[in-house]
Amino acid sequence: MGTREQADAPGRRSAADRYDVVVIGGGAAGLGGALTLARARRSVLVVDEGRPRNAPASGIHGYLGLDGTPPAELLAAGRREVTGYGGEIVTGTVATAQRLADGAGFRVVTADGSSVTAARLLVTTGLTDELPQVPGLAARWGREVLHCPYCHGWEVRDEPIGILSSGPFGVDQALMWRQWSKDVTLFLHTGPEPSDEEYERLAAREIAVVDGEVTGVEVTGDRLAGIRLADGRTLPCRAVVVAPRFTARAAFLAGLGLDVTERERSGHVFATHIAAGPAGATGVPGVWVAGNVTDPTAQVNAAAVGGNLAGAAINADLTAEETDLAVAERRASATVTPATGTPAAATPATGTRTATDLTTTDRKAHR
Ligand SMILES: Cc1cc2nc3c(=O)[nH]c(=O)nc-3n(C[C@H](O)[C@H](O)[C@H](O)COP(=O)(O)OP(=O)(O)OC[C@H]3O[C@@H](n4cnc5c(N)ncnc54)[C@H](O)[C@@H]3O)c2cc1C
Repeated sequence: MGTREQADAPGRRSAADRYDVVVIGGGAAGLGGALTLARARRSVLVVDEGRPRNAPASGIHGYLGLDGTPPAELLAAGRREVTGYGGEIVTGTVATAQRLADGAGFRVVTADGSSVTAARLLVTTGLTDELPQVPGLAARWGREVLHCPYCHGWEVRDEPIGILSSGPFGVDQALMWRQWSKDVTLFLHTGPEPSDEEYERLAAREIAVVDGEVTGVEVTGDRLAGIRLADGRTLPCRAVVVAPRFTARAAFLAGLGLDVTERERSGHVFATHIAAGPAGATGVPGVWVAGNVTDPTAQVNAAAVGGNLAGAAINADLTAEETDLAVAERRASATVTPATGTPAAATPATGTRTATDLTTTDRKAHR
């Protein structure tokens, strides 16, 4: 693992590389979770390889109070906040995570072979956007090759926008992006032929439909200028909208028993994710998830809040376990004398009285 970022803060530090929680992935979700945990005085380590999904975008849009903030700036602020409360952050790629025997938690191993252990894991590794295989698209991704109108629509308003259909969502995307520009063209490319009803809806919104395969994009002076077709034509265009397949970055955690499952919309698989219950609890005890790895549609603020909620749930789970252990230890080592409330020599656990058995004096004495 790389050098650990940590501030001289009063948070709880780990002992011998053993943490309450290791957070795998340090984007909005991971840092949101780590912030909640560090403020809850948990020892927390974030392991992050530093490739957030929105890195190519110049600004984060639609985040109330922070609209337009460059992605790297938000993450730098989040890292300062986490380390300010005693959380630790390290650059590295997690290669595997395994459950330790006898409920001792988890061992997290990074690609360089180093490892740490933790009582709980929070997985926030995000997703990979798999773009249609058209030459030139990947190089313009996040700049003029776009997927989310709420992230980018305003920035390309009134421009000529091409919708590259490669699956069943092309018509819906074209009708949606029409909200941002009157100049929208649907390129059928490898997508299905619209039905008569869909053609009527597209015509009613003055959306042109172009048949034939798209073979590339035209770039002039570092700006997208057009879409190239197999028949040799190039049609002017300032933005291309695609429908990527969202693939959860979680295959390396299969050993933990975390299942990556498919998500469908209208009968079509558009993503894979790790399914989770409220606050990101997975089917694997001790492991929580947050952000795009579980919800491919979560924007930055939803990812950060998902991390906050998971962090709180993990703290509650640790608190319950620690309380159970404390009760068991207390029962094993001592009991109370009913009349005086003073600790007596150890007696069998069956003789131990619970809080509801104690007199008022007893309760006061044992607070
Ligand atoms: C081009 C583009 C533009 C966008 N614009 C906006 C916008 O304007 N507004 C908005 O709200 N949303 C926007 N989004 C969505 C936004 O990117 C996501 O909502 C957000 O990134 C989700 O946060 P996350 O923490 O779940 O995942 P990420 O931000 O992707 O963070 C995951 C982190 O985990 C790390 N990681 C992965 N695997 C490992 C591993 N094995 N070991 C260690 N670390 C690992 C990654 O390197 C990364 O740093 C945009 C998305 C894209 C693709």
